[in-house]
Order: sequence, then structure tokens, then C-alpha cells
Amino acid sequence: MTASSPPLRLLLDGEALADNWRALDRLSGSAVCGAAVKADGYGLGAAGVATRLAAAGCRDFFVATWAEAAALAPLGLNVSVLHGVRDEDMGIAREGIARPVLNTPIQVERWKAAGGGACDVMVDTGMNRLGVSTTALAAGLLDGLAIETLMSHLACADEDAGMNARQQAGFAALAGATNARRMSLANSAGIVLGPAYTFDLTRPGLALYGGTPRGEYEAIVRPVATPQAQVLQRRRVPTGDTIGYNATWTAPADTEVAILNIGYADGYFRGFSDRGFARWGDAALPVLGRVSMDLLAIGVDDAAGIGEGDWLTIDLTLADAASVSGMSQYELLTSLGGRYARRWI
Ligand SMILES: *Cc1c(COP(=O)(O)O)cnc(C)c1O
Repeated sequence: MTASSPPLRLLLDGEALADNWRALDRLSGSAVCGAAVKADGYGLGAAGVATRLAAAGCRDFFVATWAEAAALAPLGLNVSVLHGVRDEDMGIAREGIARPVLNTPIQVERWKAAGGGACDVMVDTGMNRLGVSTTALAAGLLDGLAIETLMSHLACADEDAGMNARQQAGFAALAGATNARRMSLANSAGIVLGPAYTFDLTRPGLALYGGTPRGEYEAIVRPVATPQAQVLQRRRVPTGDTIGYNATWTAPADTEVAILNIGYADGYFRGFSDRGFARWGDAALPVLGRVSMDLLAIGVDDAAGIGEGDWLTIDLTLADAASVSGMSQYELLTSLGGRYARRWI
């Protein structure tokens, strides 16, 4: 049985993705530029993303879990698993498909007890999320490990906060304190904080996918993902009638409406109700009423030609879409979900 092609697709611009990585690589200066491809490549599809980034020259990939590493294993890439190794991960971790990023003293002991091997280590410089403490490091916790990359993570890189410089200084002070071959601090936002932040390896995610965690990126990266949804019905809504759940939109005049196959289950969140828009050629067509789980009403008075089966582009310009919907750019990308046909162009 072969399913028909879905009424929802995600156009993925492979050139834009590669150009974004090259731009981040240049911004990284003498540091090597890697790529965070966790959460299924920020919703775009991890294998498709990683294949194209590897072709562009990227050599270091970061995922959150071993399931994500296993999904990339056929590509034979150099992958690090940011969440490290639990007991139940040791089987797959010992197969050598990826390196663990050790985060806790227990993970460090677990890795040493199993005979070690190449690993990365996350050290906490103030975020208080994952990572071993600088105190434990100074006390010798990491002695005897074969550390490829010592890393830390910035809490406020998307803001001009004093914490950035404090974390940078705390991390820089660890140079030479371990046998790590490389040091790595910056995510996307951290890269544009300047050369003091890039160390040996950078780990951008969001900006690769066209996101702009800081204003600097608006002139640097291009959008990669564009959702398109098919028209399932076109109808005329008479003056005074309402549209959708809770009847929140009332037609001020007879209105032409297209019902599209996309909804909040596809990451097109309720925050776009009455605020988002779709594109058809040059026309920007407004969302009318509530976004449903799987459906969306669009006003098409300005687009006479639209009919059943036509495809409309959903505007997902990330910075604007984030402020309109109240979601972060990260949430918009990683919520795109499994119902799209992902099509690289
Ligand atoms: C997600 C993540 C990144 C990438 O962050 P962006 O803000 O998407 O560039 C880098 N490092 C770590 C440890 C992460 O968890």
C-alpha cells in the first residue's frame, strides 16, 4: 500500500543551508564550525540536513540522544551526544557510533569503568544546566579521560548580558587544565560575540536553519524552511457569518475563504489566529479566526484564482513569526512535525 503524497509540504533550500554554514564558518575565524542537528535537525530532518552540511565541509555534529545518533550512524559522521551516557546507553555508546559528552561525575566514572575511549566533556560555567563543575575538574575528576572536546554553554548569548564575559573568562581559564584536544563554547548567538568566544570549535544550530538569535544575523543568514499547504475547500462566507472554533471571526462583508491543510499539530500554533498570513504570488492573505489542529482559514478576496488543490505558502519568516505567535524561533522550527513531505530544492 502506498500512501498518497500529503497535502502539506516543507520546501527546504539546500543552498541556503550550505551558505548559512559557510557564513558561520567564516564568522568562526580560526575555529572549526560544527552543527547542532538535535531535534531532527531543528525539525527539518536530521539526515537531510547532516548530509548537506557534510558536503559543505562540516565535520562535527551534535545531537541530544543516542536515538538521534543512531539515526545518523549510516552517514558515518563525527557525532557527539550532548546528554552523555546513562547506564542504558552504554551498549550503543560502546559501539563507537558517536562520542558521549560527559556531563556528571557519575557519567565520568561510568565511562572510565567501561574502559573509556574518546569522549567530550561539558563543564558548567554558570548556566547550571548540564555539566561538571570547575571545582570537580580542578580536583582531578577528568584525569585519565581521552577528551576530544571540552565544552561549555552560554546562558545569555542572545543578549548583551554581563554573564557572557563571565562565562567566557571562566571557560578560557580552563585552557591547559585537561588533556582536551579542543575547546568549544559558542552556539549561534555566541559566535557573533567576537573572537574571544569561538575557541577551537563552534556549535551553531538555529542560525544554520535561518534563525536570527541576534540582530546581527538578519544580514547574514537566509531562510531555509518554507511550509506550503494545499487548499481543501474554497467557500464564500456571507456577511455576518463566523469562521471556525468559538466563532471568533465575523465576516464584515461577503468574504472569499480558502481552507488549508495545516494546523497547530503541524507547528502552526494558535498564536497565529487572526494574525498570521499566507502568500500567493505577491498577495499576503490573512488568517481568519482560530487555527485548528489540522486546518486553517485564509481570506482570499485578493486572490481570485485560488481553488481546491492549489498550494499556498505559509509565511514563517522566523523573527516575525515568533513575535506574532509568542513562540520562540526554536519552538517554531522544532514543532514542524511529521506530517510534512520534506522536499529539498
Ligand atoms: C542546542 C545547542 C547548541 C546550538 O544552539 P543554537 O542556539 O541553536 O545555535 C549548541 N550547544 C549546545 C550544548 C546545545 O545544547
